[in-house]
Amino acid sequence: MTISAATRVAGVIGDPVRHSLSPVLHNVAYRELGLDWVYVAFEVPDGGARGALEAMRLLDLVGLSVTMPHKTACAGACDELSATAAALRSVNTVSVGEHSRLVGDSTDGEGFLRSLRDAGHDPAGTAVALLGAGGAARAVARALGEEGARVLVCARKPDAAEQAARLAGGATVPWEERAEAVAAAELVVNATPIGMVSDSDAVDLPFPLEALHAGQVLADLVYHPIETPLLRGARGQGAAVVDGLGMLVHQAALQVEQWTGRGAPVAIMRAAAELALGLQT
Ligand code: NAP
Repeated sequence: MTISAATRVAGVIGDPVRHSLSPVLHNVAYRELGLDWVYVAFEVPDGGARGALEAMRLLDLVGLSVTMPHKTACAGACDELSATAAALRSVNTVSVGEHSRLVGDSTDGEGFLRSLRDAGHDPAGTAVALLGAGGAARAVARALGEEGARVLVCARKPDAAEQAARLAGGATVPWEERAEAVAAAELVVNATPIGMVSDSDAVDLPFPLEALHAGQVLADLVYHPIETPLLRGARGQGAAVVDGLGMLVHQAALQVEQWTGRGAPVAIMRAAAELALGLQT
């Protein structure tokens, strides 16, 4: 599609942002939907969230995705927040509502649920061991709690674990006891960066693989590489696995749906992301 004076612009703000897969996911979706839209990455340094949102209104952008370090600042700078964004005090999606009001939402949790359902797993009533208590863990904790899952959060920092557990209506387990919690769970979620290509930690597994067994589901939020050492190992133990790329694709698909009012071409978005990840080092 040729870019013209009529082309509408959406984008992502973050720093760093040049590695982001969001432009790949969104642009392929807009093309598939036949929209004269383009999605670009805006490198906005820490402290610049409020200015970026003002610019969004002025430049009449159709929507903004938000990544680190702006998720909390955007929650304070939007005119309205969805119930999820308000509970998490975190925004990854800004849409323009009536009277140009900026509405913040967080699509990570629902994106995670959709990736689970895609793989045929319903979290309602299941016992979950959630490893990590950062931004992604908090979003997943709240989403799982809303679905009626029984969530145990295991993280190195007890206060952060408590906060995440509260979002799920769940409880915590000391990090040192994570292997037992994993063994007893029906669904195990890795929401730490362990296993990520760029993670500098020497460890590549968040817990001993022997804790996993057939009949369990292991979901890894890490998506680069798509096949993490944990996913590979979990499969070897007989567990069903859900990779992190599904969540990444679905959180973007939810943004496409909010901004266009149409269904997102999820399979095409995933194929484009797989291609792009295959090309990245
Ligand atoms: P974050 O806010 O920095 O939180 C990371 C969490 O992992 C913290 O609880 C941290 O504990 C813990 N952690 C880090 N290294 C650890 C280690 N070596 N051992 C034990 N715990 C460790 O990061 P995030 O935004 O939540 O992201 C977490 C992961 O999810 C990243 O790999 C990210 O790429 C991925 N993610 C995927 C998606 C998706 O769509 N698939 C979306 C969001 C995030 P401490 O506080 O003690 O360091």
